[in-house]
Amino acid sequence: MSETKQYRVLLYYMYVKIEEPEIFAKRHLAFCKELGLKGRILVAQEGINGTVSGTIEQTDVYMKTMKEDPRFDNIVFKIDEADQHAFKKMHVRPRKELVTLRLEDDINPNQLTGKYLEPTAFFKAMQDENTVILDARNDYEYDLGHFRGAIRPDIKTFRELPEWVRNNKEKFEGKKILTYCTGGIRCEKFSGWLLKEGFEDVSQLHGGIVTYGKDPEVQGELWDGQCYVFDERIGVPINQKTHVIVGKDYFTGEPCERYVNCANPECNKQILSSEENEHKYLRSCSHECRIHPRNLYIKEHGLTEVEVKERLQSLEEETAIKQA
Ligand SMILES: [Zn+2]
Repeated sequence: MSETKQYRVLLYYMYVKIEEPEIFAKRHLAFCKELGLKGRILVAQEGINGTVSGTIEQTDVYMKTMKEDPRFDNIVFKIDEADQHAFKKMHVRPRKELVTLRLEDDINPNQLTGKYLEPTAFFKAMQDENTVILDARNDYEYDLGHFRGAIRPDIKTFRELPEWVRNNKEKFEGKKILTYCTGGIRCEKFSGWLLKEGFEDVSQLHGGIVTYGKDPEVQGELWDGQCYVFDERIGVPINQKTHVIVGKDYFTGEPCERYVNCANPECNKQILSSEENEHKYLRSCSHECRIHPRNLYIKEHGLTEVEVKERLQSLEEETAIKQA
């Protein structure tokens, strides 16, 4: 691999017992800040989950130091090259759970989890007739990109997934279930939960989508669109062979891979929007959001009340014409 870029983004997790996550988090934050890293790390009694960015030297020291800790000697770092930091700040936060499933009985993936499939095995399994591919992420992640033919659970957050599966059981019964997520951490628990729920043949993509995209053999094949990531990059490419755009502009339905947040700070919904439509619709997902008294778009662009009225009126006229 040619390393021409000066920065890296590291994505990693490990399910391992961490005593006193609060104390760990405090010390780890000091360590990361001293190194000059930026990013977001969650720490719980069940383990650690993080994305951090830094220079090649900084990330090298971080990975080496982590692996020297016997708890993390087997940790796998997924490494992306980058031109700059992918975060503005450094956070290390103690949490009750690493991924929020809020199960009645929590799953320990070290005791119960689906079969791990490496990228080539996952690629083959996806093409098996008796297989269903279940995306274990949120709807806005799926909408930017997903495996071809994967089921899109209609959920806003991961914790809704178990209930959604229970309500859609008939889709999975008697089938081989393949699950996948960004880096693999959500599937560790979710696939374990599926087994506990009584589904017999459950597999998960080992290392997640990002590992699949880097695999020299499959090279991300059968992935369409981009992979949503929780840092400033928002999307990263996966399929090295062909790039298909599956994202659709919220306003016009045209192909689009550009996420913006609704300018109503109380809504903040992520919507795919071209630059043109962002301006046209005041970066707002609805009329209600457009007229919200704290609309950020109006503030950022210094629009006067008269200007806002004019813009809203021309939008109304346009919808009237379309409906006529
Ligand atoms: Zn909105």
